[in-house]
Amino acid sequence: MSASFSLLGGGGWIPTVRRETTCALLSLPGALFIFDAGTGLARLLEARFQTELEGEREIHLFLSHYHLDHVAGLVYLPGILKGRTVFVHPPAAEITGVDPWETLDSLVRKPFNPTGLAGMPVDIRIEPLGEGGHSIAGVEVRARRQIHPDPSAAWRVGDLMAFCTDTAADQKSAAFACGTRLLVHEAWINGEEESDPATRQIAREAYTGHTSARQAAALAAAAEVVQLVLCHLNPLRSDDYHSGMLLAAREIFAETHILEDGEIVALQEEL
Ligand SMILES: [Zn+2]
Ligand SMILES: [Zn+2]
Repeated sequence: MSASFSLLGGGGWIPTVRRETTCALLSLPGALFIFDAGTGLARLLEARFQTELEGEREIHLFLSHYHLDHVAGLVYLPGILKGRTVFVHPPAAEITGVDPWETLDSLVRKPFNPTGLAGMPVDIRIEPLGEGGHSIAGVEVRARRQIHPDPSAAWRVGDLMAFCTDTAADQKSAAFACGTRLLVHEAWINGEEESDPATRQIAREAYTGHTSARQAAALAAAAEVVQLVLCHLNPLRSDDYHSGMLLAAREIFAETHILEDGEIVALQEEL
């Protein structure tokens, strides 16, 4: 299967000039799969993605959860995908504990936005997905509940990619992603904080709903993926800190990468 991957927003929480908040694009021959609608969704307006949007491929938008850094871009849809049909796949209530229709209705409505999702000039079809496997545009997509203050969903697309953000490190994520080519996993801290009493509390707090770069690398190794991309980077940390995360992760899993927003990665056989 010929495919490409781009992290449209590689940051968490607060968008920065360098990194918008979470959004990823998996371009498949028959469909465009978008994961999360953080502010990074806006990068689809960049010229390099015009050919992606011009085709007639089905567009599916999978949401990990409803924290605003993952859904703020829903209000950009009329500007980016006007006239198109977009299948929106929030995690089912069995994963998040909340009704997906009610939650999306309360999120995008007057007076916070001129219209609700249904009033947009985009044909939005809301199709929640529960745990287990689903056939989406002819591809097997799996969902799994993750550990986060408000539970989130991990997504797996065939043997191509697993997308795990806003989750504490969980060995079950390795089983979920096992055998995929690309694991896109969040990394909120380096992980070195654990071993220093002065910073141990930072690690404790992070681990209630997030993962360190070292933990993500260990999961990638256990899952025997080909490549790990770290996402949902902490916007309050410096570039040097993020470089340190990458080096620490590479000691555990050599094929770890941090991508620039919008960088296009071919997912070919040589990956
Ligand atoms: Zn987040
Ligand atoms: Zn979150």
